[in-house]
Amino acid sequence: MIEFSHVHKIYNEETTSHALKDINLKIEDGEFVFIIGDSGSGKSTLIRLILGEEKPTSGTITVDGIDVAKLPSRKLPQYRRHFGVIFQDFRLLKDYSVYENIAYAQRIVSASPKAMHRRIPKLLAMIGLEEKAKSYPPQLSGGEQQRVAIARAVVNGPFYLLADEPTGNLDPANSEEVINLLQRFNSTGTTVIMVTHDAQMVNRFRKRVITMHDGEIVRDIQEGGYDNA
Ligand code: ADP
Repeated sequence: MIEFSHVHKIYNEETTSHALKDINLKIEDGEFVFIIGDSGSGKSTLIRLILGEEKPTSGTITVDGIDVAKLPSRKLPQYRRHFGVIFQDFRLLKDYSVYENIAYAQRIVSASPKAMHRRIPKLLAMIGLEEKAKSYPPQLSGGEQQRVAIARAVVNGPFYLLADEPTGNLDPANSEEVINLLQRFNSTGTTVIMVTHDAQMVNRFRKRVITMHDGEIVRDIQEGGYDNA
């Protein structure tokens, strides 16, 4: 479970302008949550705090009972293995093939070659890119690249999948495919948090929607869709 309790974040103490204002939030294991809001509303800050990339100015963030801000930096790499992260710009290694991009993530956690041979073909099948295992990212469409990024994010079986504007560079059809894929991993138990500013897209999926504005949560609707408040 992820819990924010009275979290404030001010990046620049001189201006005292709040990136986050008194955020209180609980995300239970296995949930699929959209976080929606205009640019600058604090969505990415929320993600960075969960990952321990930034510390709150006040308040606490606990993940599975761990107070994230209190983790010593030497423990952060281990902590971050609980998360798969996906970004708008895919962030694949361009000189590595599709297969190698996914394998790279497994090597970081010292997975055995046997585990890699077992897991990667299954994932390639799930993302529909078995035929492109030997292709390189620049040879793929944006939608295909994002599917590889998702495979890489889930290959080590994270508890949480954090997606920051994963459909920002994709057309509606590819965006829907990416969200469908995220839903598939969610249905196997992974908690998914997806940040987006695309309200229309969110409306097509009946999931929890948290709306942010100027650093505050202004709406939190369970499985309601954005428009049905
Ligand atoms: P969103 O992801 O919704 O676009 P952000 O979390 O990136 O919003 O930003 C929230 C606010 O914090 C914005 O006003 C932004 O300018 C500010 N901000 C974000 N990152 C930094 C940073 N590293 N230093 C200073 N201000 C920042």
